[in-house]
Amino acid sequence: MQFRAVKGMNDLLPEETERWQRVESAFRRHAGLYGYSEVRTPIVEALELFVHATGETSEVVEKQMFEMERSGERLALRPEGTPGSARAFLNASRHAREPVTRWYYLGQMFRAEQPQRGRYRQFNQAGCELYGDPGPLCDAELIGLLAGFFQELGLRDLDVLINSIGGPGTRARYRETLVAYLTPHKDALSEHAQRRLLDNPLRILDSKSTKDREVVAGAPSILDVLDDADREHWDGLRRALDALGVQYRVVPGLVRGLDYYTRTLFEVQSNAGELGAQNTLGGGGRYDGMLKGMGGPDLPAIGFALGMERLLLALGDAAAPVKEGHCFIAPLGDRAALEGLKLANELRALGVRAEVDGRGGSLKSLLRRASGLEARYCVVLGDNELDRGIVQVKNLAAHSQEELPRAEVAARLRAGLTREAGR
Ligand code: AMP
Repeated sequence: MQFRAVKGMNDLLPEETERWQRVESAFRRHAGLYGYSEVRTPIVEALELFVHATGETSEVVEKQMFEMERSGERLALRPEGTPGSARAFLNASRHAREPVTRWYYLGQMFRAEQPQRGRYRQFNQAGCELYGDPGPLCDAELIGLLAGFFQELGLRDLDVLINSIGGPGTRARYRETLVAYLTPHKDALSEHAQRRLLDNPLRILDSKSTKDREVVAGAPSILDVLDDADREHWDGLRRALDALGVQYRVVPGLVRGLDYYTRTLFEVQSNAGELGAQNTLGGGGRYDGMLKGMGGPDLPAIGFALGMERLLLALGDAAAPVKEGHCFIAPLGDRAALEGLKLANELRALGVRAEVDGRGGSLKSLLRRASGLEARYCVVLGDNELDRGIVQVKNLAAHSQEELPRAEVAARLRAGLTREAGR
């Protein structure tokens, strides 16, 4: 019987993982510079947390949750990071310790989607959450953090989209305006949008269906009906983005898929690399009502998540790590094998990656293996070398060979690798 990975869930083999680690550490560093610290929350949470926080009419909750039941408890694999992080924030009463909390996370998320390039059932997000600051300066700073991270990795031609969907008052008023506009066009809408008209009309604004898009093109803009406080926030956001030099585009149709958003919404898109149709690298928004809605204090919050798989597709070879030179030790015979183990440890103690091949075999086959592994040096030692207190070192890149005293070999190889790295 042959087993395969579950549909939409992928293995990351070591060559690939190295690219990921590079991007992950860049994210950690970048978020850290803005004062964010890492939080790690469980992958499984109470199903109700997501229904409550993410919204019953959000697509994720309606159709995409991996659910399970265990001893009468209804659980789910997390489809996104925000609800779990908010729960952890409340459980730890962080607001009692600090007025503003900045957290970031990295981890797997799960959504039962139709898999395609850039869209998977298990995928990884890196995200930031900021609790306790009503904005709009921190909104602009967070958008700058996200766009700046992509730029730092070398992505150009980013498209930063922003919008405001106002607070609950504005939203309720806009909902009525929108429904009044859409209802006479109901028959021209897709079946899905017709249902949305009743439960979540704002989502029709970002429908992908061409039928819906035609109708929506003439819809009134939410930006025209913002109340005074929402407008002040919106104006403040744009002023701060201008001050930070973040280029952006105002897109009044940007509503995003999760129900909890208030005021600021944003997305960063790119057409780099092999992204294809799934070109949204990341996005987020303000969710001022969530903590209170979860039984916590009335604290504002804002966050974003970016998709690691998509980011790596966009980066292509640019994410390839710089290979560090390493040593392969080829002992010939049992006595040499034990000496080889010791030499490998000496090299590791100096910070040099070393591998001993203790399987025996001919010099030719050992050398072949060393070049297969792309080792920089192959250290050959047999009885003759042991007796003379030396080793033979082959520089596989330079195709040269030299004899070195056994006592000096570790330090000499490290010096050689350091010299090469500096070039
Ligand atoms: P969301 O949590 O839906 O706002 O998504 C934030 C980001 O996560 C998106 O911009 C994508 O980069 C990524 N993302 C969302 N869903 C998927 C998925 N099914 N597969 C891969 N990446 C995803």
